Amino acid sequence: MPRPTSTRVIVVANQKGGVGKTTTTVNVAAAMASHGQRVLVIDLDPQGNASTALNVEHNAETPGVYEVLVDGQSITSLIQPCPDVEDLDVLPASIALAGAEIELVPMVARETRLRRALDEFLAANASEERPYDYVYVDCPPSLGLLTVNALAAAREVMIPIQCEYYALEGLSQLIKTVEMVQEQLNPSLNLSTILLTMYDARTRLSAGVADEVRAYFSDRVLKTAIPRSVRISEAPSYQQTVITYDPSSPGSLSYLEAAREIAEAGAEPAA
Ligand code: ADP
Ligand code: MG
Repeated sequence: MPRPTSTRVIVVANQKGGVGKTTTTVNVAAAMASHGQRVLVIDLDPQGNASTALNVEHNAETPGVYEVLVDGQSITSLIQPCPDVEDLDVLPASIALAGAEIELVPMVARETRLRRALDEFLAANASEERPYDYVYVDCPPSLGLLTVNALAAAREVMIPIQCEYYALEGLSQLIKTVEMVQEQLNPSLNLSTILLTMYDARTRLSAGVADEVRAYFSDRVLKTAIPRSVRISEAPSYQQTVITYDPSSPGSLSYLEAAREIAEAGAEPAA
């Protein structure tokens, strides 16, 4: 897997719940880390599902992304290593983050608090011997201030789309939010990647949704679709990603393939 020339910050967003944001974040991150990339996951969902899946502590007392956003603490000291995957680190979310959406409202520069912290972190990180290759941000299922903070801090947005009826509903609102952030906060933001999730090859519905998404987003849609897989859905109950839980399962291999596509899309063209 080629390493990027500088850290790529990729936000995984979709205001719909249950479409595979967290599953995609943790599995793509783990796939990349197990193939030579150094990866940080920022858990921006108060539910802390990404923190759980990556097996890092995130109880009510664990400082994490809330302290970064609301108290202005630096990211470096709050990162925890994922115990099961080398080169994979996590900035965890605790339930305190549930209050942040409201606590941020009266704050100065409320939309860019994550960006400030992340820019500072990445500037220091760039001079390290082995800087991070990727930062993934797992968003909550809303288009509120947390997601806006993520979009303001990133270069790339990845949207997981569940291959189900109603999958495309709400997408225009998400795209409008991305455009608003591009115009007002972050002109370098790019909707770079669409990933089809929970694809069921046996149903015409999945194929139909996939066709529609590919017709609209063309080559931004990864060739790899993630199949619906029991192994993927049971991995988090063992505090694992499917990459470590069942490495040779179709779900694991498809996330690895998706990770490879993402890495190759961001590689410098050969001279
Ligand atoms: P989100 O973060 O968008 O809310 P999740 O990643 O938590 O969505 O996924 C929602 C549910 O679907 C979870 O229970 C997860 O385990 C399950 N899930 C996600 N992807 C798959 C898949 N490819 N196959 C089967 N179950 C999946
Ligand atoms: Mg989630």
